[in-house]
Amino acid sequence: MLVVMQQGATDEQIQRVIDRLVSLGFTVHRSTGVMHTVLGGVGPVEDMDPADFEVMDGVKECHRIVSPYKLVSRHFRPQGTVIKIGDVEIGGDHVVTMAGPCSVESREQIECIAAIVAAQGAKVLRGGAFKPRSSPYSFQGLGEEGLKLMRAAADRHGLLVVSEIMDHTQLPMLLTYADILQIGARNMQNFNLLREVGRVRKPVLLKRGISATIEELLLAAEYIMSGGNYDVILCERGIRTFETYTRNTMDVSAIPVVKKLSHLPIVGDPSHGTGRRDLIFPMARAAVAAGADGLLVEVHPDPDHAASDGAQTLNPAQYAEMMQQVRSIASAVGRSA
Ligand code: PEP
Ligand code: MN
Repeated sequence: MLVVMQQGATDEQIQRVIDRLVSLGFTVHRSTGVMHTVLGGVGPVEDMDPADFEVMDGVKECHRIVSPYKLVSRHFRPQGTVIKIGDVEIGGDHVVTMAGPCSVESREQIECIAAIVAAQGAKVLRGGAFKPRSSPYSFQGLGEEGLKLMRAAADRHGLLVVSEIMDHTQLPMLLTYADILQIGARNMQNFNLLREVGRVRKPVLLKRGISATIEELLLAAEYIMSGGNYDVILCERGIRTFETYTRNTMDVSAIPVVKKLSHLPIVGDPSHGTGRRDLIFPMARAAVAAGADGLLVEVHPDPDHAASDGAQTLNPAQYAEMMQQVRSIASAVGRSA
C-alpha cells in the first residue's frame, strides 16, 4: 500500500496515517521527498480499500502496489534516489566512476592505482579483499590486510572505498574499512546476507546475479530495503547467455528498464560485463548513454600480471582515455563525469 501525502501535510496527519497502517498490520517505510511524503506500507494489501486512506486528512492519494517489490518500486520515490556519501552523490547529475583493481594485491599496487584513478576523476576506489573465485586454488584475496591497504590509499587520495562482502561474518570488518559494501553476482540471492546488510546503515552495491532476471535483482534489493537500509546501488555486470565470445553478455537495456521500474541508482560494469579489455570503451560509453549513474571499472598498473581478471582490466593510460570518452557521452546526455 502506498500513501502519498499532500504537499504541506502536517507531521500529525502523517503520524495518523502511519498509526492506521501499523494498526492494520503493515510495516511502514517513509520516504520524504521535496514535494511529498510517501508512506510505503508492506502488509496485508489485498484486504484494503485505498479509499479508506484517501479520505484521511492530508492524504493526496493511495494505491495498492501490485509489483512483487514495493520499496524498490519507482512509485515509492518517483523523484529517484540520490545516495550521499560524504560529498559524493550517486544517482545525481554526475556519473560516478568506481575504479581500481579486481583484487588488492600490495601496498604499491593499490597506492599507484588510487593516485591514477583519483587524478582522472574517480570518486570511489574499488578492490576485492575477499574474492569469490571459481576455483578454490586461485588467489582468494588478502583479507583484512587488503582492506587496510585500500583504506589508507583511498584516504590519501580523497576516495571512497567499495569492497566485496562474501559472508555475514565479514560484516564488522567491512564496516570498519569500506564506505560501500559490495554484494557480488554470486551472492545476489544469498538471502541471509541480504538481510544482514539490510540491518546496517551503510550503502550497498548490489551486483546482478549471473543468471538473474531484472525482477530477481529488484527483489534482492527489496530484501535489503525491507530491513531499513535504503541506500542500495544496483549494478549491471553482464549475465550468462549462449554467447561465448564475451565472458558475459552485458545487458545494457537493463539500465533503462531498472530506471523505469525503480528509483534506485544503477551503475554499469563493463569489465565483468564483457570480460575483455578491448570492449570496455564501447560498453562504458553505452552504459552512460543508456542512463547509468556510474561505472565500475577494473584498472591495474600492469593488467597482464594482475592476480585476477587481468584480461578485462585497463591499464592507466587506457583508463584515462576511457574517462575522456565517457565525459563526452555524459555531456551529450546532460550529465557530467
Ligand atoms: C568483482 O567486482 O571483482 C566481482 C567479483 O564481480 P562479480 O560479482 O560481478 O563477478
Ligand atoms: Mn573482478
